[in-house]
Amino acid sequence: MSTRRKKIYEGKGKILFEGPEPGTLIQYFKDDTTAFNNEKKAVLEGKGVINNRISEYFMIRLNTIGIQNHFIRRLNLREQLIRELEIIPLQVVVRNAAAGSLSNRFGLPEGQALPRSIIEFYLKDEKLSNPMVTEEHITAFNWANTQEIDDMMALSLRINDFLSGAFGAVGINLIDFKLEFGRLWENDFSRVILADEISPDSCRLWDSQTLEKMDKDRFRRDLGDVIESYTEVARRLGIMKEMPTVIQGGLH
Ligand code: UDP
Repeated sequence: MSTRRKKIYEGKGKILFEGPEPGTLIQYFKDDTTAFNNEKKAVLEGKGVINNRISEYFMIRLNTIGIQNHFIRRLNLREQLIRELEIIPLQVVVRNAAAGSLSNRFGLPEGQALPRSIIEFYLKDEKLSNPMVTEEHITAFNWANTQEIDDMMALSLRINDFLSGAFGAVGINLIDFKLEFGRLWENDFSRVILADEISPDSCRLWDSQTLEKMDKDRFRRDLGDVIESYTEVARRLGIMKEMPTVIQGGLH
């Protein structure tokens, strides 16, 4: 890893470095994995490489159906060149079936289909454990305006349709997922653009036949075979045929 670049931000799973041109950044995918607000931590060798590729795959495909995102191009195994955005401090969760915090809050069995897809907003603030927020909070505290909320919801539903189809075609049920958005400024106007990543770290993915979990819940719930499951997701999507060598080689 190059250390000459300026580090802009380091999160739990990724690092952002200064990009080669103004308005660009380099997004580096780490192997570090955390859950339960940092209480549980591990290094899962090869995870960053897999998530870099899976996220690249979806960002490119979303772009081809007109959903703009921050991805410019992949640079190497662990890095991608991205557009610098003004990040909107919200996590947008889309749910197709009950799981995780929704199941806990409403006492719904995991896997129960929802009457319709549900969108939720959470504030990106780890010190506060990312509390759920309503549109009232979002507009009152100026985290986003009503137009931006509408845009994020419409984009999230389109992304849900696309991802549900893409995963469904390879025998995977998309239970829920998390998105993040940012603003791309052009003169005095800004557009809402998809940012962050789409990977088994940010989605719940169940095998359609066996209902086996193929996502970060394997880590959260100590189910084992985390990397194997992420690799299987990539394999089914038809990407990273060279991946087993990469993991065994322990490339960094
Ligand atoms: N999620 C995420 N980052 C977070 C919180 C949630 O990527 O900080 C994803 C999670 O992987 C799942 C979806 O958002 O696919 C919904 O998560 P939930 O609210 O059920 O919370 P959890 O049970 O993960 O705490």
